[in-house]
Amino acid sequence: MVYIALGSNIGNRFVLLQKAVDCIGSRIGTILSVSKVYETPAWGFESDAFLNACIKIKTDQTALDVLDALLTIENELGRNRDPSEGYQARPIDLDILLFNNEIISHERLQLPHPRMELRQFVLTPLADIAAKKVHPQFKKSIEELQQKCEDNSVLSIWNEPLKF
Ligand code: ADP
Ligand code: MG
Repeated sequence: MVYIALGSNIGNRFVLLQKAVDCIGSRIGTILSVSKVYETPAWGFESDAFLNACIKIKTDQTALDVLDALLTIENELGRNRDPSEGYQARPIDLDILLFNNEIISHERLQLPHPRMELRQFVLTPLADIAAKKVHPQFKKSIEELQQKCEDNSVLSIWNEPLKF
């Protein structure tokens, strides 16, 4: 099972998340579950608020193949980006959080995703679909990591669900 985090903070954020879900479902694997969508204030830099969500998929591809496919989708959905928007703003960010229980430290891919345990915008949607899943390095469940997390960003639930 592969857990992927999606985030968008420019453009039509919800539409970009939905397009990313659709591309992942057609190119990477079967989508098994989708979290609620959350709006999160930008974290670590000044910019517009993010929409964030997490999905669970099943795939036969390797972790690096999945990464390459996600980067291709990011590029495709980013093509309309206005260069004046500020370099950190992103139409879509697709990160692999967990890939089975693999622990990988490759120059292009680290798994589990580093610093996921520090971010409520990752843990909150991930807990919707994987509360009991145990993090393979920390040996703690996602809900335990969420309770320990010191990020006190206030997330709000977006009223439109993603379709899959
Ligand atoms: P971030 O998501 O940290 O804000 P970027 O989206 O710009 O940054 O990603 C930069 C690079 O992070 C990607 O090109 C990719 O090679 C690398 N990377 C390392 N581990 C992961 C992972 N688990 N999921 C996605 N990208 C990763
Ligand atoms: Mg990324």
